[in-house]
Amino acid sequence: MSTTEVLADDDLTFDPVKNAFPVVTYCVDPDWMPYEAIRNNQHVGMSSDYMTYIGVLAEVDFQLIKTKTWSQSLEKLKSGECQVASMLNRSPERERYLRFTQPFFVGPNVLVSNNAQPFFQGYENIGEQVLGAVAKYRQAEYVSNYYPHINLKLVENELAGLRLLAEGDIDLFVGSLLSVNSLIQKNGFSNLRVAGLAEPQDLLSMAVTNDDIALLDKLNIAISELPEWVHADIYKQWNNVRVIEEMNLRYFWIASGIFLCVVLVGIWRQMIVSRYNQKLMVKNNQLEALQQELMENNRRLEFMSVRDPLTNMYNRHLLQDRAEQEKQVSQRKNLTVCLLIIDIDFFKAVNDRFGHSTGDTVLVELAKQICCTIREMDVAARWGGEEFVILCPKTTLCEAIYLAKRLKKQISQHDFTGVGQMTCSYGVAEYLAPESFVDWFNRTDKALYTAKNAGRDCIHAAGLDSVTKDASQVNND
Ligand code: GH3
Ligand code: MG
Ligand code: MG
Repeated sequence: MSTTEVLADDDLTFDPVKNAFPVVTYCVDPDWMPYEAIRNNQHVGMSSDYMTYIGVLAEVDFQLIKTKTWSQSLEKLKSGECQVASMLNRSPERERYLRFTQPFFVGPNVLVSNNAQPFFQGYENIGEQVLGAVAKYRQAEYVSNYYPHINLKLVENELAGLRLLAEGDIDLFVGSLLSVNSLIQKNGFSNLRVAGLAEPQDLLSMAVTNDDIALLDKLNIAISELPEWVHADIYKQWNNVRVIEEMNLRYFWIASGIFLCVVLVGIWRQMIVSRYNQKLMVKNNQLEALQQELMENNRRLEFMSVRDPLTNMYNRHLLQDRAEQEKQVSQRKNLTVCLLIIDIDFFKAVNDRFGHSTGDTVLVELAKQICCTIREMDVAARWGGEEFVILCPKTTLCEAIYLAKRLKKQISQHDFTGVGQMTCSYGVAEYLAPESFVDWFNRTDKALYTAKNAGRDCIHAAGLDSVTKDASQVNND
């Protein structure tokens, strides 16, 4: 079969007939992309494509012997387990046990540095700096042969060397342009860059063991028959643009994964927050209801603290407080203020005759009569039992007596439920500064008793000069 017969057809899906040709075993560098590698037990990379064509042209069936490292591949080539090396540089060491075909791919070697390093051209200016190279690679052999003064650090593969360089453990690294460029991009070594070219450039050939000289000729012929478009296609297939796309896709998936995680965490957090918000809202509503209840209770307490529970009138505490205040005002502003005490006549008899609850009703009705008769500024309170007290601010004694008369008239005309008509006695006294509230109250109470003693159902006002002697009977209207 001639080259033109096999490859004239530019359809790359050509499928050689398996097992029709003699089997030839071969070894590759398992980790040297994009040149070659073993991924998922398959030989991939440029040399894989080259061997497909070369196998057809040389009429051999290449079978991969899998290895873990390049050193292991070289051992298998030495031992003869592998008959062919797929893609490698010629070197004096390797020439001891391998025969090389003509090169079929030329690629530059480069020095890689971190960004702080200046531009390097070749090995001359490296000086004391530590140069990394892959053990058993041709560059390592080359540097130790021709630059024995260079401080060489051997590493297992190019990725390990680039990692050491990125971490600052070595100063420079030598590797082939395509593969180091691919690794730098794939692994995100953003602080690394190609700092210069390193001789010699890669002249990549196949090689056969010394026992397979006949195979060497066949491979040389096949390589020489490779058309230029095969080289171009393989280069295009494996150049860095493709690697960059893969890398970008990888970063895209990583970024998408992170984004998705962030979104999921956000949604989860939002769910928790809204659940807590709902609970908080319920608690807030409960709290608000409790606050309303508390305020209502406080209002009731406040009301009860100053009110008489039976009649809802103010109680004696409130009245006493207000009377103290009005005392101050009258002294400060020279105003008159009066006190009026109302006591139901013969109330005991009402209880005895009609019962206590009828007596209560009388008290409630009397309170209403008082409240609807007094003026807005007056303060009326149930003092206790069937006694009521009215504080009359800014009121002269005459005006207070007039109020008592109006009350007397209103009460005596009222028809008390279950009892009928009832009367009260009234004691009135104007405040005489600087007497105490108790003295003032006692004078008013005395006036009331004077009214009682005078036959009840009448009003008596305490005189200004003498509490006892100046008392004067006020006739009813
Ligand atoms: P007087 O004309 O001298 O004032 O005679 P009186 O019967 O009204 O006076 P007294 O002080 O002898 O009796 C007052 C009565 O008032 C005694 C008590 O049973 C009654 N009383 C006091 N508080 C209440 C109350 O809250 N409800 C009822 N139903 N009766 C009460
Ligand atoms: Mg009484
Ligand atoms: Mg009484």
